[in-house]
Amino acid sequence: MDANAERVIARVFAVETPMPKAKSALQEYCSALVPDRAGDFAQALMDLGSAICTPKRPACGNCPWSDECRARKRGIQELLPVKAPKAARPLKRGAAFVVRDKSGAVLLVKRPEKGLLASMLQPPLGPWTETFPSAAGALKQAPFAAKWKKRPGIVRHGFTHFELEAQVYVAEVSKQWTTGSVDVRMSNYMCQAQQKWSITAVTNADGYPGSSYFKITIAGTGRALTTTAEGELITLPDFTGEPQQLWRLDQLTDGSWRIAHHQAGQLVARRQTSRRSRRPPSSRLN
Ligand code: SF4
Repeated sequence: MDANAERVIARVFAVETPMPKAKSALQEYCSALVPDRAGDFAQALMDLGSAICTPKRPACGNCPWSDECRARKRGIQELLPVKAPKAARPLKRGAAFVVRDKSGAVLLVKRPEKGLLASMLQPPLGPWTETFPSAAGALKQAPFAAKWKKRPGIVRHGFTHFELEAQVYVAEVSKQWTTGSVDVRMSNYMCQAQQKWSITAVTNADGYPGSSYFKITIAGTGRALTTTAEGELITLPDFTGEPQQLWRLDQLTDGSWRIAHHQAGQLVARRQTSRRSRRPPSSRLN
């Protein structure tokens, strides 16, 4: 039954069961009315619903079923059919990171090509969960270390299937890298789409069976991933070829890649790759 026909039948028989649960009852009531010329009846019912028994202010005075209509007799015709209450949309919360430089330019990252808001630009976002991250937790989700300041208030956005609330952290940055060392956070930071690393084989640096050593730099810069004497990860302004800047890439049996410092064999990051790309990445990690 189309929506116009359902509305007429719901009113004529005063069916107060919410839709769509009432559909089977409406079908039964309607079937009991169908005469020999079923096609004409169906057309007439739909026309009655679209022209006279309209959703609001039905023209009951012009209706051929005015005397029989139970809803009209009870004065509840405009309340029928009853709509099911809308299900509450789940609420998700997270942190958004707005990065600006002195010229007013804002850092935007591109979302994945598939899924929600595919390929659209956005400020870097943390994961969406039931609660906001703590200030310390949010800083771990930030795209890089900076003087992040939480702005008062929250930003809300409604999606079809859920509501999103975001706390906004803002940082002012310079276009220039500092001349000294810069701390590097790895783990999930390494796997975020906006973080680009270039991985390049280093010639004349020996290697290990089956491969060479690699240098890892922040894409678009000469900054090289380096370990300190204390085992910390930093980037230095330039690749110097020192052993602390040489890395090895190993593919594990589950298809992921392990990046290890060539001296310590220390696991620092893993990058899940598809089984189609089983050769070592020659350029970008992300
Ligand atoms: S009497 Fe009014 S409410 Fe009842 S079927 Fe006719 S137009 Fe609809």
